Amino acid sequence: MSEPADTQQKPRRSTAAPGRVKEVTSVSNPLVKDIRLLAQKKQHRGEAGLFLAEGLKLVLDALEAGWRIETLVVRKADLDHPALSKAAAKTVALGADVIEANEKVLAAISRRDNPQSAIGVFRQKTLPPEKIDFGKHGVVVALDRVRDPGNLGTIIRTADAAGARAVMLVGDTVDPFGLEAVRATMGSIFSVPLARVSEAEFLSWRAGFGGLLVGTHMTGTTDFREPAYGKRPTVLLMGNEQVGLSDTLAGACDVLARIPQAGRADSLNLAVATAVMLFEARRSALKL
Ligand code: SAM
Repeated sequence: MSEPADTQQKPRRSTAAPGRVKEVTSVSNPLVKDIRLLAQKKQHRGEAGLFLAEGLKLVLDALEAGWRIETLVVRKADLDHPALSKAAAKTVALGADVIEANEKVLAAISRRDNPQSAIGVFRQKTLPPEKIDFGKHGVVVALDRVRDPGNLGTIIRTADAAGARAVMLVGDTVDPFGLEAVRATMGSIFSVPLARVSEAEFLSWRAGFGGLLVGTHMTGTTDFREPAYGKRPTVLLMGNEQVGLSDTLAGACDVLARIPQAGRADSLNLAVATAVMLFEARRSALKL
């Protein structure tokens, strides 16, 4: 799978020429049309290598974490809010543009009746799997063909909360930089490293990975509390929402773990199962 994102991006130097400030009042302005395309079309996001983050807190977190901003759209009427004007000033100082917009423009971009006061256009960032820093014995989540943006965003948020070192997306997955997925991360997209690989790339990386690969499977024979998480770098491999793990990926695992269930449900929701696995791995590693 190609790697469209800028894996080597560096924050702009403070010597960058300052960005421009423009007022935009019409949804048919070409700048607005282009930003709306980023919200709506995965292909456009991929080609441009950009994505949107809504909300002042998210924008400030992203700037703080050194993510590269291209454009900041702000509600002009709120610019007397010190944090918003600070974000706008920082954006301009970094050499990116600020669009001062009205309610109509913000609503059109976010497709919400009550849009946030700031929408940032950021450069996408992923890293190749060999660059993942497992720390001493860290845990990474790998997701086979995850389809649902809400699940993906929730998993990135949960991975952040559980101290996971990265999330790997394997095969044809939903776009982590889509508006819905980014919303569901609640800002964790800016703190959890993401890797995107094809199944073949994952398998070739796995061949050189000296840690533990724990697959989760409805027919797994290992109780999920058994694996020795935390003794080695660990990857938790989770299956697709409809069909679970591919046979090839399941065959590459050291163990196939199952979370015992009561009742009549066939399986747990993917994000819920990932949360159970991540916090079990964390609990077990903290005991060591
Ligand atoms: N029909 C699918 C199947 O048979 O695999 C169900 C997939 S389930 C909704 C999505 C993923 O969540 C699974 O592939 C697995 O990774 C994880 N999962 C859900 N319930 C689980 C359980 N009880 N034990 C282990 N993993 C589970």
